[in-house]
Amino acid sequence: MASAFAHAALGATLGKLLLPHRRHWPYWVAAGICAALPDVDSIGYRLGVPYDSLWGHRGLTHSLLAAAVVAALGTLLGQLARPAQRPAAGRLALLLFLATASHGFLDALTTGGLGVAFFSPWHTERYFFPFRPIKVSPLSIRAFLGAKGLRVLASEAIWVGLPCLLLLWSQRWRRTASTSSAEN
Ligand SMILES: [Zn+2]
Repeated sequence: MASAFAHAALGATLGKLLLPHRRHWPYWVAAGICAALPDVDSIGYRLGVPYDSLWGHRGLTHSLLAAAVVAALGTLLGQLARPAQRPAAGRLALLLFLATASHGFLDALTTGGLGVAFFSPWHTERYFFPFRPIKVSPLSIRAFLGAKGLRVLASEAIWVGLPCLLLLWSQRWRRTASTSSAEN
């Protein structure tokens, strides 16, 4: 897996890109949480669920189907917010789907473990992308706190943090440019 920090950073970035207004910040946080959520399967991993099984690590919880289920449930929950506060349901569903699905996307860019079962439960093959620059994060917190964790974070800063910052910066630049052209 990539670390929870990288997943949450990408999810929150997607939140800011799709729902840019500041009043929607709780949805940026929600998108960050959804992006980290699929690694809930690491509990099963510790309890002995085989890595390469349907419910194994990077299995069903990392699939596009799981992302669609999380998006549907999250959008329903979102309807509890006051109408003035909540975004359009379609936009929220898209955000939560992309944020949750982004988890598998990042994991498929990592250097270790098994691939991601994007199409589970129909096709349980595991996939990696041909280009895998992100150092895989250890599942154990103790291992993450050592030098290995620092190397993982450095690689994620380059391959996840930097692109996220560039995307946010370009969004800000486009908004500033459109505001100033409207004033002219
Ligand atoms: Zn994962």
